[in-house]
Amino acid sequence: MKTIDQLEKETKRLCTSRGHKMGRFVRLHYGWSQKSERIEASSTCENCRMEVFITTSPYPNEIDISGQAIGLTCPGNNPIPPMKKPKITIEKSPNAPCCFLIQQVGTNKSILIQSDWDCPGIAQLFGWVPCSICDYTDGTIDCEHKKASDMIAEAKEVILENLSVETEDPGYF
Ligand SMILES: [Zn+2]
Ligand SMILES: [Zn+2]
Repeated sequence: MKTIDQLEKETKRLCTSRGHKMGRFVRLHYGWSQKSERIEASSTCENCRMEVFITTSPYPNEIDISGQAIGLTCPGNNPIPPMKKPKITIEKSPNAPCCFLIQQVGTNKSILIQSDWDCPGIAQLFGWVPCSICDYTDGTIDCEHKKASDMIAEAKEVILENLSVETEDPGYF
């Protein structure tokens, strides 16, 4: 099985070869174990807004890499500005107080965050950086300077300080 890092690198390379300028991958981990059974990630082209989706363990009816950006060449700047997505806030889950919810503002859509491993990605929406010295880690793997467990704990603090603060949706919805 390919790791999510390998899949993201491969996908980014394929999309870039089609002329896309892919933004940061948004990841979601499914499953409670530390090595999540299924990780999903998505990214959007900053020019044309086409998307790409990847998963580490596709269901029988799925492929590991899918989406328009993988199959179609980038048409360049989209003359029509992308529809502005509603903003999101992070809330504590009413049903599982130790879990967070990503809530779409103005709708009743939400995503339950099951895994601590998603916290670093979310904290980055509020300006947190996993390591201020290097660019090596996204907060879920150790770098030379910091342990992943410390970064995840820091990320959780940042999220708790920013509950109900509206921020741009990088692609969760
Ligand atoms: Zn594009
Ligand atoms: Zn570092």
